[in-house]
Amino acid sequence: MEAFVKMNWLSYVVPNFKSAKYVLEHNKYLTLIELLDESQPYRELNRLQDIELSKLSNNDPILSRIQGSLIGLAVGDALGAAVEFRSNAYMQKNRVKEMQGGGTWGLQAGQWTDDTSMALCLAASLIVKSGFDDYDQLVRYKWWYRKGYMSSTGSCFDIGNATRAAITKFENRQRQSAQQLGISTSEHYLDRIIGEKRSQINFNAKCGDLKAAGNGPLMRLAPIPLFYYRSKSKAIENAANSVSLTHGDKKAIDVCRFYSALIWNAINGISKENLLNQKFYYNNFKLSFDKDVMKIIQGSYKKKHGYVDGIRGKGFILNSLEAALWAFYNDENSFEKGVLLAVNLGDDTDTTAAIYGQLAGAVYGIEGIPKRWRNRLFQKDFILTLANGLYIKGKTFDRPRRTSEVIDDVQEDKHKTKKSNIKSSKGAAHIISECK
Ligand SMILES: [Mg+2]
Repeated sequence: MEAFVKMNWLSYVVPNFKSAKYVLEHNKYLTLIELLDESQPYRELNRLQDIELSKLSNNDPILSRIQGSLIGLAVGDALGAAVEFRSNAYMQKNRVKEMQGGGTWGLQAGQWTDDTSMALCLAASLIVKSGFDDYDQLVRYKWWYRKGYMSSTGSCFDIGNATRAAITKFENRQRQSAQQLGISTSEHYLDRIIGEKRSQINFNAKCGDLKAAGNGPLMRLAPIPLFYYRSKSKAIENAANSVSLTHGDKKAIDVCRFYSALIWNAINGISKENLLNQKFYYNNFKLSFDKDVMKIIQGSYKKKHGYVDGIRGKGFILNSLEAALWAFYNDENSFEKGVLLAVNLGDDTDTTAAIYGQLAGAVYGIEGIPKRWRNRLFQKDFILTLANGLYIKGKTFDRPRRTSEVIDDVQEDKHKTKKSNIKSSKGAAHIISECK
């Protein structure tokens, strides 16, 4: 584990002598946006000096939930990483109870896989672009696949078939566009100039196969509702948009619309009981969902025994949604219990747990995630910095007007949140210091 993992949280806001020397050697400080365009941002965290981050107040329960969702995703991923693809029968004999290294990918305990890498790419894009930029998101996924950007090992060691095919299609479209525009095919032109000129050539960023329904878009989803925490309609609309970059099946799109609405409402203080109530769908959507997605929404996951009741932690997005909701439903309000239920189902262990962690972390907040796991997480301070960035940049996002597709009950939720803020503000005052 690299030395800077243990740095004090404040040291990138008010650098100490050592970090000042480091910065001198490397010429300059970096704002958060500059940091996220570095080839491996977490390695440059010592150079971060960002005015907006330094002014961040940590007494908002919404910030605790945003941090909880992103850290929850990464903690779930790290807990499941060593046993990814192990069967349920294997897991029954070798239950995961703590973070462990080795196993499937030979990682160190606390290191994470593609789920977190892609989520961090998405979060970085939302922060740098101050909103949804499909081209930039694909560029960062490409950097991850080709150069290990946001990878916990420095290279991409695991990628889903549909995601790889979509990134390859995107690269081909980039080169075709360069020819069309008569410009260089160097990286700068492909990744920056075409992005700026894409409206001129009607660049199509929907690179997902229309039959792709794997859990890839769900495992990386959280940054969308976290960034758009002030606009439910945007959180749902852009969840759908984020899916189609790599996966085109309607089931995948509907699942991510629904899960984004769950996370959004959790961030805004809606209780677990109301999230799991069948009325939740009708309170949030007017559009019709795929019938198989509806079966899950209507409660197919509300079973006690998991695997013997037919719950599967497989890579098909419907299995993943059902399994993550089953773990949430049965977690007895404990992140620790729920995330281990998700991992110990077996199969796509890290992703089931990462999907659970996004929602449970949003409900229970950062302080609901066991401290020993937060402290073991690779680049925890960097992930927290991205969560803080989503909160800050999302705060300035203009709330759109009501759309016909989505009932935007922000005002109603805000009223409810106000009440819950009063109850929980005492615990939220020390959320960042607790995360060290
Ligand atoms: Mg993974």
